[in-house]
Amino acid sequence: MDMQTSFRQRLIAEGILFPTGVDGLFGRDGRFEAVFDGIDRAITAAGLGDGAEVMRFPPAMAQQTFEKSGYMKNFPHFAGTVHCFCGDDRAHHQLMAQMARGEDWMGDQQPADLVLTPAACYAVYPIVAQRGTLGDDGHLVDVSSYCFRHEPSLEPTRMQLFRMREYVRIGTPAQVLAFREDWMRRGQAFATALGLPFEVDVANDPFFGRVGKLMADNQREQALKFELLVPVNDGLGPTACLSFNYHMTYFGDTWDIRTADGAPAQTACVAFGMERLVLAMLKHHGLDPARWPLSVRETLALG
Ligand code: ATP
Ligand code: ZN
Repeated sequence: MDMQTSFRQRLIAEGILFPTGVDGLFGRDGRFEAVFDGIDRAITAAGLGDGAEVMRFPPAMAQQTFEKSGYMKNFPHFAGTVHCFCGDDRAHHQLMAQMARGEDWMGDQQPADLVLTPAACYAVYPIVAQRGTLGDDGHLVDVSSYCFRHEPSLEPTRMQLFRMREYVRIGTPAQVLAFREDWMRRGQAFATALGLPFEVDVANDPFFGRVGKLMADNQREQALKFELLVPVNDGLGPTACLSFNYHMTYFGDTWDIRTADGAPAQTACVAFGMERLVLAMLKHHGLDPARWPLSVRETLALG
């Protein structure tokens, strides 16, 4: 048994993660969720006073919004769509018979006009765009959402459904770049306060296909993405628990968001992988949060 499986097995044996029979899909117990809530509070505290607008979203977005976001061009392999039964009594009868015979019954499911959200900030841009031209200060949003990515894995840190919290800055290049620089500092202070070992490195997204290789190279060359990495799965490389992304005018152009001077807005976000942070804490401080260092418990306000 390799070490990464063994961390997963320990979490399951302790009753912290409930396996579902599908890789990357877990239930969590009260200890896990208490730490999760503590990390959520600490993120709020780290951004307090910045005046971010709070937005919370369900795990799916409108198909139309999803299509316009351009996600399928870059990451078709991760996306999950929602489908439903829309038939009559006869079709229902047939469906039940197919299921009873163990046959495929999914083929007749119809699109529900919903796509599972791949990243929390995708829901934000169309809403901000609808409001018209930005004010001089641009905009700052505190967003969270369940996210789906079809990347089944035995690493407990790579889930198919997980929660992402982000601060998203929309504005001029100077505002957006200052935000990212500031959060790269704050993100490291955050990890330090949690007592986690980490490194920050330039990164790239797993763009699809041959063209994707060029996209990834370009993203690295231009240093558009940094990650704060924490060793969580022994024997493997460290895991990205926070990412700091600079999209330039990608979303500003896509959604026609404009700054006060009429230029396309730039955007950046800092994303916190919530389950990954909880797992990192359990890995480094032990599976019993009651015995964690006092300073860490205080940062999380675990009481
Ligand atoms: P990785 O490089 O590990 O695949 P990513 O670069 O694709 O991660 P982002 O797209 O930047 O991740 O997503 C923002 C944050 O969401 C990440 O920093 C990470 O903490 C978290 N995250 C991403 N994918 C997963 C996943 N499959 N399971 C749990 N958390 C995830
Ligand atoms: Zn984002």
